[in-house]
Amino acid sequence: MRNVTEKMNILNTFIGRSDAPIQTVALAGELGIKVYHAGWPDKISGKIQKDANLGGSSGFAIFVNKDHHVNRRRFTTAHEIAHYVLHEDQIGDGIFDDALYRSGLPSSVEAQANGLAADILMPWSILNRYIPTNIQNGAVDVTKLANIFQVSPQSMGIRLGQPT
Ligand SMILES: [Zn+2]
Repeated sequence: MRNVTEKMNILNTFIGRSDAPIQTVALAGELGIKVYHAGWPDKISGKIQKDANLGGSSGFAIFVNKDHHVNRRRFTTAHEIAHYVLHEDQIGDGIFDDALYRSGLPSSVEAQANGLAADILMPWSILNRYIPTNIQNGAVDVTKLANIFQVSPQSMGIRLGQPT
């Protein structure tokens, strides 16, 4: 089992050679995690579990609701990657995240996963390359940046301190 620092190093190296949009499934692959689509009710976003058959070299597999919009699926993948990086010791048999990314883990743990998911999908090192060319009327063009990074305008608005 890798420790958090080792996992963060893999993640940061991947982001260091990436451009927008960040390829979440490839990042999962770098960490030894395989990603699958799953058919679920709308209220379920995703799951991470140890899986001897379906897991990658880390032993883990991520499942993402196939009926969700691609931006949402990308966020879910990043959120589950964050659980692997930060909370592997708390995953147990697996965690299901509902539509609001609540899994039964403490809300502080979910907030941490959402924070790292934002860092994965909208790294400042890459955002800072795009912000200067996407200013309109003195404000950052949240919608354009959201399209470039393949995230929801809501996520990008929060990231930039311009909630929509
Ligand atoms: Zn979660």
